[in-house]
Amino acid sequence: PKKVTILGVPVDAITMGEAVARIDGFIEKRTPVLVATANAEMLMRATHDGALRRILQGAAMVTPDGAGTVWAAHHLGHAMPERVAGYDMVQELMREAPAKHRRIFFFGSAPGVADKAKKKAEQLYPGIEIVGTRNGFFTAADEPAIIEEIKAAHPDILLAALGVPKQEKWLAKHLGELGVPVAIGVGGTFDVMAG
Ligand code: UDP
Repeated sequence: PKKVTILGVPVDAITMGEAVARIDGFIEKRTPVLVATANAEMLMRATHDGALRRILQGAAMVTPDGAGTVWAAHHLGHAMPERVAGYDMVQELMREAPAKHRRIFFFGSAPGVADKAKKKAEQLYPGIEIVGTRNGFFTAADEPAIIEEIKAAHPDILLAALGVPKQEKWLAKHLGELGVPVAIGVGGTFDVMAG
């Protein structure tokens, strides 16, 4: 797949359809991978946060989230077909989830928000299996139980909304033990869904 390196981060030059198809491929393969959605803010942060930069360099897919990322690619002289925003990609994945029998876990945001977003998803995408929710406010002591909860739910897709760069760092650190095929950092997605 074609990548455009922006501020040291390889961003995939893909359409929404291609991004969703690649996620399907990751789920079939079942080797845990991280997917990030890179807006300008994330790319700027990666210039001075080496740990974040290395995580993004090692991610299975980094989508161009936001006009700034698409603009930067064009400015560097590369084709970037369209914006693939996290919120929109999550809606696409959820729209296809019932027919594909995808199990999805909502992790992150303030207490109650992920539950509200789950109810919204169940209204919007009948038959969807949101197999668990967990708010994103926790201490290190809570982490083993959170990891067990996610593992026990056996999701195909883990959506993590802890903010940038916490979500990427947490997912990169725990990807192996979680055993979830695809983990995606989704920022404020649950807040928007919960309204
Ligand atoms: N959040 C969380 N745990 C934290 C810090 C933040 O779950 O320790 C949540 C917060 O409630 C919000 C999301 O992470 O739902 C971050 O959203 P924001 O739009 O600020 O994220 P960004 O676009 O900066 O990634």
